[in-house]
Amino acid sequence: MSEHLHPTQLLAFDREHILHPYASMTAPLPNQLVTSARGAELHLADGRTLIDGMSSWWSAIHGYNHPVLNAAATAQLGRMSHVMFGGLTHEPAIELGRRLLDVCPSGLSRIFYSDSGSVSVEVAMKMAVQYWQAQGRENKCRMLSLRRGYHGDTFAAMSVCDPVTGMHSLFGNSLHRQFFANAPTCRFSDTWDPNDIDSLREQLELHSEQIAAVILEPIVQGAGGMFFYSPTFLREARSLCDRFDVLLIADEIATGFGRTGKLFACEHAGISPDILCIGKALTGGYMTLAATLTTDRVAEGISGDGGVFMHGPTFMANPLACAVATASLDLLLSTPWQDRINAIASQLQRELSPCKAFAGVADVRVLGAIGVVELTEPVDMAKIQPAFVSEGVWIRPFGKLVYVMPPYVIGSEQLSRLTSAVVNVTGKIRTGT
Ligand code: PMP
Repeated sequence: MSEHLHPTQLLAFDREHILHPYASMTAPLPNQLVTSARGAELHLADGRTLIDGMSSWWSAIHGYNHPVLNAAATAQLGRMSHVMFGGLTHEPAIELGRRLLDVCPSGLSRIFYSDSGSVSVEVAMKMAVQYWQAQGRENKCRMLSLRRGYHGDTFAAMSVCDPVTGMHSLFGNSLHRQFFANAPTCRFSDTWDPNDIDSLREQLELHSEQIAAVILEPIVQGAGGMFFYSPTFLREARSLCDRFDVLLIADEIATGFGRTGKLFACEHAGISPDILCIGKALTGGYMTLAATLTTDRVAEGISGDGGVFMHGPTFMANPLACAVATASLDLLLSTPWQDRINAIASQLQRELSPCKAFAGVADVRVLGAIGVVELTEPVDMAKIQPAFVSEGVWIRPFGKLVYVMPPYVIGSEQLSRLTSAVVNVTGKIRTGT
């Protein structure tokens, strides 16, 4: 096993044995073999370089192979890469915690570290359920979620994803039964339509005695449709949760750390959740780490009478990941990140707008460093993925959505390469070529 395989052999093994996300187990579409990455570029084994439009699914905000993050990882590696968190603690977890409490929405005071976004959502739901149970309100054990929502792929997380576009049809009876309200329709900059919140209010009026928490993605409904909704919806949701005695879980796994133009999307509405989930860009995309934050009220509610919170992953607060996360957050805050995001947003607006004229395009929208071209029909991945690669860019559409969310360090010429690829490729869809 010592000799290195040739790239074609590596790809052959990959195709036969290594499973990829949301892919066939036996006849997957081809994957590109990446050998290294730097800044906003991915280097392929065949010598090609692709400009990265995905930030590795919202995470690599500083680009790849960043010297500051590399140094943080190397320094921590020399001390310890991991120790268990039961009965032990360490400076990387504490330093990261200090910074998170400084920057996260106000009122959050307790941090539970876990290994991935989906797990942080599971943890959030457990906190909400345990909270009400400790108050003697065992019936409040279900969630109210939004249609078009997405919160991860583990079982409880799937149960609060959109019941149609999510995976309910595949996993049907094995999912918890939750409540759903209509997705917001008022867009980010629209004049607020008070009817938009009716469905959420109705669900609370009908079922609040059974509802532990409302769970939502603030401002950006991501994998469920890349839709940017009105901050007033979020403010109204917050006040309805208070009125109906229901906790609010904000899933900022995708939106956290500047992506929407604010450090956290909740800031667009000036609200704080009772429970916050973060992940993805937390480590600047270096390794997997997530966190669930909550308030004194929830913590006292669960443990005031001596109760413990029942979760404890093996890799909780992994020191390597915490050290890199601290460096990533310091790096972000030491740069004029908001100016950078605004510049990316203006360029995306300007350069993606020609897509509006294409017959195959239903909508073009931009918020912060997220640019979305919504098509009228779902893409054919077998065709569109190679088309982007031959344009020299890494853009991975899904469903009807072609979208970019580049690393914040992307240069304006690199960004133009991404946007012209989107224009070229979606323009061809229009003519059917
Ligand atoms: N919530 C949201 C809003 C997400 O975008 C994602 C990841 N796509 C998750 C939860 C799940 O995170 P992970 O993939 O790290 O489990």
